[in-house]
Amino acid sequence: MKERDFARVQERLDGVSRREFMKFCTVMAASLGLPLADASRLAAAVTSPRRPPVIWLSGQACTGCTESLLRPTHPTLEHLILDLISLDYNETLNAGAGHQAEAALQASIKENYGKFILVIEGAIPVKDGGVYCMIGGRPFAEIVKETAAKAAAVVAIGSCASWGGVAAAAPNPTGATGAPEFLKGTTVVTIPGCPPNAYNFLSTVIHFLTFGKLPALDDKARPRFAYGRLIHENCERRPHFDAGRFAVKFGDEGHRKGYCLYKLGCKGPMTYANCPAILFSDAGSGSWPVGTGHPCFGCTEAGVGFTIPLHTQADLRHVTPSAGHPPITEPRGSGASVGAAALLGAVAGAVVGGGAMVLKGLEKKDAAAKKDEE
Ligand code: SF4
Repeated sequence: MKERDFARVQERLDGVSRREFMKFCTVMAASLGLPLADASRLAAAVTSPRRPPVIWLSGQACTGCTESLLRPTHPTLEHLILDLISLDYNETLNAGAGHQAEAALQASIKENYGKFILVIEGAIPVKDGGVYCMIGGRPFAEIVKETAAKAAAVVAIGSCASWGGVAAAAPNPTGATGAPEFLKGTTVVTIPGCPPNAYNFLSTVIHFLTFGKLPALDDKARPRFAYGRLIHENCERRPHFDAGRFAVKFGDEGHRKGYCLYKLGCKGPMTYANCPAILFSDAGSGSWPVGTGHPCFGCTEAGVGFTIPLHTQADLRHVTPSAGHPPITEPRGSGASVGAAALLGAVAGAVVGGGAMVLKGLEKKDAAAKKDEE
């Protein structure tokens, strides 16, 4: 990375070392399933003075998506987000209110007509003319339709915006709907999660800035790099599942020993997301719900999260082999070593979006090698 470009990073992101910044770009490249050599291309895009204007509208939402995006503990992530995009309008963060905020929204739409990215947070209630979510005296649904027609790209962030989420749970009294359904005919990228992982949003924006196009999407318009694999494939408890070791009650011996949570209703076998690979919400947190002993409830999967009761056992039809964890029954020093698991992760990662598992595998391999040296 050129000295001139890094000087710009330092100017913008107070206190970030070159090493930290390049590590961040490497994690980004890995989570996008790109060769690690592409980290420098990403770094160039991140340091570009180009900043896409973003208008962020919030409807039936708890504000958790904004919070998770802007309050990570990983160094400087929120700075990067706010630096990469020009966040022209966000009701949670706006300094102004009332007529001032409305005027700012209209001014931004006018100035950036056809060029801005519209981010929608929260579900869109459509019942009774949309009266269940009014902003500035107008139904949120009307504002979304009007703004989306003038945007360059539309992103639905969080499960509520993606398909209705908790707001659309039965009996759905407000007619809560996700943006793709409401804006039929418009491509709406979805980044579901409750809340969604900030890195998945950031990686999508960086991909757009680096390659000038959106990343590959699945049939639910989710970026495949983030939602291409089942949680069950990469879960650290998967070797226990394969060995038939389950927690059957919260706090029982199996639960305390870290056994599989399938019998407690874990929806990992039906849910596509990269939580076990990049961990939850903030890649620097070192944890995620299943890691702390709570079954996955399928928040990234329409028809699973907020739909199937937590205690119901998951459908196992789509189980595929674990991508990154060796079986627990393997004797130490033979068969699937940690290094072999990393290699397996690398092959899997090359297929679809498992890049972050590659990185995790390689880190484990490094750690194991260090331990052996000691
Ligand atoms: Fe992990 Fe849940 Fe699958 Fe068990 S059922 S291996 S806890 S994802």
